[in-house]
Amino acid sequence: SIFIYSRQERQTPKEEPLEEEEYEEEDVPMSPTVSHNLDPLDQAKLYSCLDHMRTVLGDAVPDSVLTQAAIRCGFDPQRALDAVLSEDSKTAPVTRTTTEEKTPAAKEKTRDAGNKLDSEVVPKVARMTVSGKKQTMGFDVPSSGENGVVSAPVRRGGSPENVTPAPDSASKRPETPSKASNGDEMPAAPTPGRSSGKTRHAINVKAELEKRQGGKPLLNLVVIGHVDAGKSTLMGHLLYLLGNVNKRTMHKYEQESKKAGKASFAYAWVLDETGEERDRGVTMDVGMTKFETDSKVVTLMDAPGHKDFIPNMITGAAQADVAVLVVDASRGEFEAGFEAGGQTREHALLVRSLGVTQLAVAVNKMDQVNWQQERFQEIVSKLGHFLKQAGFKDSDVFYIPTSGLSGENLASRSSVSQLTSWFSGPSLVEQIDAFKAPQRSVDQPFRLCVSDVFKDQGSGFCVTGKIEAGFIQTGDKILAMPPNETCTVKGISLHDEALDWAAAGDHVSLTVTGMDIIKINVGCVFCDPREPIRVCSRFRARILLFNIEVPITQGFPVLLHYQTVSEPATIKKLISVLHKSSGEVLKKKPKCLTKGMNAVVEVQTQRPVSLELYKDYKELGRFMLRYVGSTIAAGVVTEVTSLQ
Ligand code: GDP
Repeated sequence: SIFIYSRQERQTPKEEPLEEEEYEEEDVPMSPTVSHNLDPLDQAKLYSCLDHMRTVLGDAVPDSVLTQAAIRCGFDPQRALDAVLSEDSKTAPVTRTTTEEKTPAAKEKTRDAGNKLDSEVVPKVARMTVSGKKQTMGFDVPSSGENGVVSAPVRRGGSPENVTPAPDSASKRPETPSKASNGDEMPAAPTPGRSSGKTRHAINVKAELEKRQGGKPLLNLVVIGHVDAGKSTLMGHLLYLLGNVNKRTMHKYEQESKKAGKASFAYAWVLDETGEERDRGVTMDVGMTKFETDSKVVTLMDAPGHKDFIPNMITGAAQADVAVLVVDASRGEFEAGFEAGGQTREHALLVRSLGVTQLAVAVNKMDQVNWQQERFQEIVSKLGHFLKQAGFKDSDVFYIPTSGLSGENLASRSSVSQLTSWFSGPSLVEQIDAFKAPQRSVDQPFRLCVSDVFKDQGSGFCVTGKIEAGFIQTGDKILAMPPNETCTVKGISLHDEALDWAAAGDHVSLTVTGMDIIKINVGCVFCDPREPIRVCSRFRARILLFNIEVPITQGFPVLLHYQTVSEPATIKKLISVLHKSSGEVLKKKPKCLTKGMNAVVEVQTQRPVSLELYKDYKELGRFMLRYVGSTIAAGVVTEVTSLQ
């Protein structure tokens, strides 16, 4: 296409002709994983196995340990994971908080495109170019503004030469995102704290949001656990008890499941929607449902238990604020889920590495063990030990004995005397209600990272993504970066419900018009045209290096990942090494950076990328760096040093 063509023209940044040479002169650092004498097939198997293992472990375990385990276990990721987890309990499961930055999309991408991109990164910088079909990130398509709406953004602090700014826009744009300096354009009743006014129709989104949620904060919850632990049954039953499933539907499910000879699956069917899932009795997709507790609106993501569905689960978990871990209390079953090949540990590690800190553990199927306190406590102590290693604080993990089948301790406290004789804690819903709700950023200018693009019936096309900041209303003009063009929001839907506005934290689907679908890719950011996202090709960042065996030197090629973006880059400058906890500068202009170091570096991206300073927008200012299939560092953007 024209777009891709024009993008390729710009692939080698003009101002950096030395980059390639500089790099070629350096010794090409070897990947920590290619030093083994493996044939290409085994090498590939090793990479895939390592990738899988890292999805679970994050970067807490050194490459060498993973590699050894992978080789020993014939590249079987499940066995290798188990080997690592059971052998090396001191170092293995401690998941760093910094791995929170690994967004699901980045992870997904890493698997899809990452390997390919990464391998192209190795030989030299100049080869990092032709690749992503899906995530083209060029900024070279000239903007064609509609109706005088600003369509070419000016980055704060300067005007890049290859974007044509709208003539009058530069002077009007506020320097900082938080000033309501464009008061002349503010609506009659501006939303308090909102800096960029909407002239079209004033909606006080904060008030609306409170109304929508009945004044309740939103909590995204993911349900995890081993296959057959009873996740679907438990959550289906819980929804039923809360009145989210009407009696007729439930009756229908009961009838259908009886007919199918699987009566006990009735509750699970509430969540498992497709026929295929019903036949297999496995929850395949991350179905989303909503329910309310006394003080929260909860978006429920039922994570699939089947091990093939880990990628789906990552997608779900990434948006999760809190998790419910379901374990089967039955003799032998808990052990099966917890030990070799089980998903209990894997899922717990995964959600922790994706940033979930609060966890409710439903010790389920207590009916199977006569509500025995001893069994409950046995599980609590085994799991507790592990969860602590996985990085969960004891004070943030809550254990509740439940039965998804009989409904005990789900929506209300149990009345079974064998249980109440020793357990007087909260029900699952009470516990969910007690979770701390995360901060959301409704007051900031609108930002949404595109996670999917598709053609719908009717005019325009659809994009999906999570609103990271601000809010949006139907009729709004929004700016897509790239291609640096505006379009109009014709429709907004949230959980398949059409709405006329949506706000930060919502995972929405937008129908947009006035733009060609071909220009929008996964990784584009939609933003407020009045306060567009920063676009730059060079920035300073504070990074934390993981367990890497290769030292990082100037010119080191990496793949920059954040949200749904994935872009080749180089470590342009090594600015300083910092003390890990105090942040004090230990050394200026270091020659190289080694594992575990905390440092300030300058990153140069191949093409301009849309991002923000971490202090302004957490979600758009943190990133991961990858090199040859492994994540080598996590970082936050501290300063934009060069525009395009
Ligand atoms: P998932 O794979 O974790 O979603 O598990 P399901 O919800 O599909 O349940 C697996 C099986 O366990 C089904 O046969 C359920 O009927 C059964 N089950 C679920 N919860 C309970 C429970 O609390 N007690 C008993 N006895 N069986 C349960």
